[in-house]
Amino acid sequence: MDKILVIVHTEADGGLGKAAFETVGAAKSLGAAFDLGIIGADVAAATNLLAGCGAASFFGVSGAAFGQSRYATDAAAMVALVKAAGAGIIIAPATSRLARVAAGAAQRLGGRADTQVTALEVKDGTPLATRWFYRQRMTGSLTRTGQKPWIITLAPGSFIPWQGAPGEATVTTVPVEAAARTEVVGIEAPSADQQTIRPDAEVLFVAGAGWTKKQADGAVKAQDASSLILGFLNACKASLGSSKSLVDLSGEGHSVLPFLTHLHQVGQTGATPRHPKGLATCCHGEEPHVVGWRFITERRAVNLDPNCGWARGKADVLYVADAFAVMKRVNELLTA
Ligand SMILES: Cc1cc2nc3c(=O)[nH]c(=O)nc-3n(C[C@H](O)[C@H](O)[C@H](O)COP(=O)(O)OP(=O)(O)OC[C@H]3O[C@@H](n4cnc5c(N)ncnc54)[C@H](O)[C@@H]3O)c2cc1C
Repeated sequence: MDKILVIVHTEADGGLGKAAFETVGAAKSLGAAFDLGIIGADVAAATNLLAGCGAASFFGVSGAAFGQSRYATDAAAMVALVKAAGAGIIIAPATSRLARVAAGAAQRLGGRADTQVTALEVKDGTPLATRWFYRQRMTGSLTRTGQKPWIITLAPGSFIPWQGAPGEATVTTVPVEAAARTEVVGIEAPSADQQTIRPDAEVLFVAGAGWTKKQADGAVKAQDASSLILGFLNACKASLGSSKSLVDLSGEGHSVLPFLTHLHQVGQTGATPRHPKGLATCCHGEEPHVVGWRFITERRAVNLDPNCGWARGKADVLYVADAFAVMKRVNELLTA
């Protein structure tokens, strides 16, 4: 097999994200020797976290310019690491930072890139990468011979993270000259409580349009809906998803839940998040929505309608109940 190089980057605190450990876990599962390349302002701490992972050599691209996500510097760093290691197969996490430069780096190296791979194995002495196509409707497995280097980015959440004790690794510093014309002046991010899309959360909580519809007493209870949903999210740090109908309402000027955006939409024309558990509330469970639940392992739903889509084999458990009452009680139990 060609020489394998795993490339990861540091996080803002100098450590490594979960996706980095998953990438190392995926590379190790191939059973072949591999090198490790790390990009960051200072890579010493991160390299030590991976000291025991079994990499044959450690390469680092470091310096203030590499502490930030910037196309020019990240692409140059990736190219330099591949050349330094002399690797034919490069495995990297599809974080926003590396996903952005993988194709460009492959182009500069005369190689190819395949992205968002969800399974990796060895067949006939070469990696076989599996990924989804056509908005997660079908999978394809592919391999490449004669098109090297081959950069493979892995979809976060698809592989078991490598775990091991930190140690001390010797890093070979790879010098990189890259014009940093783009200056990153800061990051504007919502506070942890405002940030309701949480890819690493245990539970996905989906809100459907029913939350904003007239209820049994003839009243619309958007305010109650808002506090019940946010109460649940704050209590168990679940990730928030939505049906298309609910996020579309804002565009039509209806009474809506202000913390929902189109980024929350789960489904055929929305996101396909990965969480161990999911709870859908006031959402009908129609196919174009449920197709976005492909990677939710255990599915539950609360709906007044015993004939809703969830009842037709789309959920493991359907509670035929009023979601306002259910979530009120759930929140009471969570905060008790
Ligand atoms: C090409 C195409 C792409 C699409 N892509 C997407 C997509 O990516 N994502 C997506 O979500 N949809 C998508 N849709 C739309 C999808 O088909 C549905 O229209 C949408 O998911 C319906 O949203 P909903 O279930 O929230 O609303 P509704 O269908 O209005 O359902 C509301 C539900 O709330 C229940 N309810 C009301 N009050 C309560 C209560 N108090 N307690 C419990 N339950 C209650 C009702 O029984 C009802 O089942 C797409 C459609 C098309 C044609």
